[in-house]
Amino acid sequence: MSAPPVTRAFIGLGANLGDPARAIDTACTALAALPGTELLACSRRYRSAPVGVSGQPDYLNAVAALATTLSAPALLDALLAIEARHGRTRDYRMAPRTLDLDLLLYGDARLDLPQLTVPHPRMHQRAFVLAPLAELAPQIEIPGRGRVADLLREVADQTIEALPAS
Ligand code: ADP
Ligand code: MG
Repeated sequence: MSAPPVTRAFIGLGANLGDPARAIDTACTALAALPGTELLACSRRYRSAPVGVSGQPDYLNAVAALATTLSAPALLDALLAIEARHGRTRDYRMAPRTLDLDLLLYGDARLDLPQLTVPHPRMHQRAFVLAPLAELAPQIEIPGRGRVADLLREVADQTIEALPAS
């Protein structure tokens, strides 16, 4: 039997409730433990103000790079299961969250499934995704959107702060 193909995928992590730093750390550990998956790298943490809402705590964000044999839908299911284990509830749109895991990129795939859109449809507009992604893969191209470094320049007005590596 031939070995299943290995795909490089990027995951966006975000949290702004409870203990965000701990949630991001334990989520990275959980990503590394997924079946058929290797954690290649995890970015520094970035602090960002919530987008589109006011009066919520700041977010802590990061991006992880994986090499995985999981299919994109199986990977999304695994991400939602990790969120649920971190006590994530979906109270209302843009509610604060203990942990948000988004499948940003799955190789160079473009997917439009009922439960899954890849590349993540808003990632190219968000400095808190693009900055940690550029840290891990400065040359990467977001299918249909352009190069991460170019996209990052377009959102230079969004304030984010890279925290020192711990
Ligand atoms: P958001 O992260 O945009 O604030 P949620 O985390 O509440 O929203 O996700 C809602 C749903 O978005 C998930 O149940 C999932 O099925 C769907 N979804 C579609 N594409 C993606 C993707 N690329 N990554 C994560 N979730 C996605
Ligand atoms: Mg999400």
